[in-house]
This record gives sequence, structure tokens and C-alpha cells, in this order.
Amino acid sequence: MLAHLLNADNYINGEWIAGSGTAESTNPADGSVLGHYGPGTAALADQAVAVARETFDQTGWAASPRLRAAVLFELADRLEAARDEIADLIVAENGKLRREALGETMGAISEARYYGGLARTILGRTIETAPGNFSTMNREAAGVAAIIVPWNAPVTLLVRSLGPALAAGCTVVIKPAPQTPLVHHRVMRCLHDCPSLPKGVVNSVNEYGTEVGEALVASDAVDVISFTGSSATGKRIMAGAAKTLKRLSLELGGKAPAVIFEDADLDAAVRELTGGALVMAGQICVAATRFLVHRSIERDFTARMTAAFSAVRTGPGADPQSQMGSLIDLTNQSRIARIIEQAADEGELILRGRTLDRGAFMTPSLFRIDNTASELVQQELFGPIVSIETFEDEKEAVTKANATRYGLAASVFTHDLSRATRVSRAIRAGTIWLNCHGRLFAEGETGGYRHSGLGRLHGPEGLNDFLETKHVYLEAGVV
Ligand code: NAD
Repeated sequence: MLAHLLNADNYINGEWIAGSGTAESTNPADGSVLGHYGPGTAALADQAVAVARETFDQTGWAASPRLRAAVLFELADRLEAARDEIADLIVAENGKLRREALGETMGAISEARYYGGLARTILGRTIETAPGNFSTMNREAAGVAAIIVPWNAPVTLLVRSLGPALAAGCTVVIKPAPQTPLVHHRVMRCLHDCPSLPKGVVNSVNEYGTEVGEALVASDAVDVISFTGSSATGKRIMAGAAKTLKRLSLELGGKAPAVIFEDADLDAAVRELTGGALVMAGQICVAATRFLVHRSIERDFTARMTAAFSAVRTGPGADPQSQMGSLIDLTNQSRIARIIEQAADEGELILRGRTLDRGAFMTPSLFRIDNTASELVQQELFGPIVSIETFEDEKEAVTKANATRYGLAASVFTHDLSRATRVSRAIRAGTIWLNCHGRLFAEGETGGYRHSGLGRLHGPEGLNDFLETKHVYLEAGVV
């Protein structure tokens, strides 16, 4: 699909820098080579951090809210101009559907514009604690932010952190995911083309293993880590950051339950949950991964859900007929195949996923299970496979919804407004959708309880991870 092989370099102080050696980027839908990238090293990460540090300490970036707004609006315009090219690259490198890739790109444009607006209204507050005594709470940029990005939504998840970081006045070093370096490079070109962006404010270092990420986490010159990825890596980062006591924003894994009560509109629920579970082939942190169904509607719901999952056409993201794209790679295809076997052993496999002739594809699976303690229920599976569990009453529904270590998102399907309100309060998760699943946008905070993370991105609270509060006290007094 791509006319020629692409190349992704590192980006430091406004210059493109080759990495050490080259690594391949491949298309998960057919295994073809798309291009190459130069993985960085710990030394290159240190170099990028030094540039970001000096730019933060020695230039007026942190004190220039209008400049920062201009950069974010320019970034949005450049992403918009390159929208179709970026979406095609996401499809090629990540395997998701063209409409999902376009939606992701549009989401990133929206994030950049949202935080461009907020850049000019970073509000502090002043109180007169006694006559003539003024306490001013200034909100100041936290310093150098390292942004570590996963592969599953490489554009949105970058801009979701980069937007508030730049709006707050931080300088940045980005570490993209090794699976999606070419997509990332195209976004970096958009940043490079922003006429108002001072050199050294945004830097980026690729990598293949974990050397660059670990160097950023260990660096004393980095003030904030904004990490999106798995809970296991998040815990490693938290331990690694302890020595330098960094601020941490951790957007981690999820195991979102969808609770379907007996009065729910089943047609609407099945429609929502087919999309909510199978978007990006289930490789999204907020995917519906557990269907908790009232026992009285279990048979009807299961029959309808099985029909809906069976009807989904799995195929290349670039094919307009496809309704679900590929997994990120063949390793994950084998991993999901093993999980399907485990589901057949531990529960009742209702719909068995299958591979296609070539590419990292896996069609949807559904299984029934009663054992909440099973790893199949407790672990994030990150693929197109969903469990069906039952409950007798509202109390049991809430207990089961809260039974995993995750707390990222959940949905509740019912026509009873009081019940919807009660249950949304009782479920311990950062986002609850009522009668729908999977709505994310720049204005509304997202983040996790418990093992799903620390802090919030999106919305005004997304700025908090990149700001310090300084209390300045003036005792002028009055006579
Ligand atoms: P991952 O944790 O394997 O990797 C994420 C990033 O961390 C990559 O850039 C990777 O190279 C880097 N990394 C790996 N080890 C590191 C280390 N020791 N130190 C520093 N950096 C390191 O996750 P993934 O497989 O790329 O992404 C999928 C995961 O991300 C899923 O668990 C998913 O739920 C989660 N996720 C969460 C959110 C959210 O908003 N909460 C959004 C998207 C994805």
C-alpha cells in the first residue's frame, strides 16, 4: 500500500538524528516490511533530556502561554493537513480499521486544540488570609516531562499527554512504542513543521527494548513521567522512579465490565457492546471485556451477542468491508490462541476465534465462566475475547464488577435511572458509561483506580500532572 519504504529517525533540538543500527517496521496484516527506524540508546536519551532541561531552564518557554497556545494550534492544523496520510500509516503499521485510524487522528487534533485553548488560562488563586496578608497559589510548569507511549493508539495517546505538557509549559522527551515508529515519525514531522515551536522543546528517542525508557525513568533531570501502557510496566516505572522521586502519571491496563440489567434495551446493548468489545480488535484499555448479565436474560443476551460477534467481518484495516482489523503481531495472535484454549478448559467456549490464512488476525471469541478468581477474569487479555458472567441482583452485580484489581472503566445498561446512578457510584472505576460503552474525548477526564493507574488525563485535570503549585505569601499587613 505504501509506495516506498519509510524511515524514522530520532529528533533532538530540532534535528533528525539516526539511531544505532536499524530495526524493521512491519505490517501485521500481511507481514510486509514498511520501513526502518533507528533505535536510540541510553546515551541518546540523556542527550535529549539535557536539551529539554536546558530549554526549560534557559528559555522563556515556560513563561510564554500565548506561544504555547500557538504551537498547539499549529500542531492541530498540521495533523489535520496530514490526516489521511497519518490514518493510512496507522492502518499499515498497527492493523486497525481505516475508520478507527481516522477517528484516532481526529481525536488527537481535538486534543491539541483543547489544550491550545487551556494554555492561556492556567489558573492559580489568591486568598487574603487576614487583612493585608495575601497567599497566592501560582501554577508553574513542572519542568521536563518524559512521555512514554504504547502502540495501540500511538497518535491520540501521544497528543493526550503532549497537549497538557506543552500547555503547562513543560519541555518534553518522547519515547514511542517500537511497534509504531513510522506513525510516530509522521507526527514528529508535523511538530517539526510548526513555525512557532522553539528548538529543544519537543524531543523524541526511539527504541527497540527498554534501555531508552529506563534511562528516562532514572534520569535526575526528568521531573515528570507521563506513561501510558500496561500495569506491569507501570509498576516497573514506579519502582524505577523512586530513586529520583519523580511525579508520575500512569495510565495503565483495564478489565472493563459491562453490567446488563434485565430491563436494558438488549438491541442497543448488543450493538454498543459489539463495538465496545471489538474496537481495535479488543486491543484498547477500556474495551468491554466482561459481560455481566442478569441471570433472567442470560440466554437471550448470549444468543444475540454470539450472533453479533459471529457476523463481524475480520480483515485488513485498509479494506472498507472489514469490521475488525488485525492484532498487533503474530506473537499476540499466538497468545490469544492459547487464551482461547484456556477458556475452553476453564469455562464454556461459546464462540471460538480462528486465525485467517495470513496476517495477525483472530476472529472474536466468547466464553462463559463462573469463577471470578480465574486468571481469565482477573487478567487483561487484550484481544477480541470476552467472558459472560451472570448475577442475581444489583449487589452481586456490583461485587462482581469490582472483583478485579483494575478500575479503568465500566458500563451499565438499564432504563432505571436511580439504579444507573447507584451502580455508577458503587463501581470503582475512573469512567462509567450509562447505556453506551467507550466514549472518550478531550473535555472529560479519564484515568484509573487501583492497578489501572495514577492521575487523570483529558480535561482541565490533565494539566495537573505537568504543573507544580507554588504558594507565595505576602504579609503586607494593614495598620
Ligand atoms: P507496554 O507496557 O508493554 O509498553 C508501553 C510503553 O512502555 C512502550 O513504549 C514500551 O516500549 C515502554 N516500556 C516497556 N518497558 C519499559 C520500561 N521498563 N521502562 C520504560 N518504558 C518501558 O504496553 P503496550 O503493550 O505497548 O500497550 C498495551 C497496554 O497499554 C495495555 O495494558 C493497555 O491497557 C495499556 N493502555 C492503557 C491506556 C490508558 O489510558 N489507561 C491506554 C492505552 C493502552
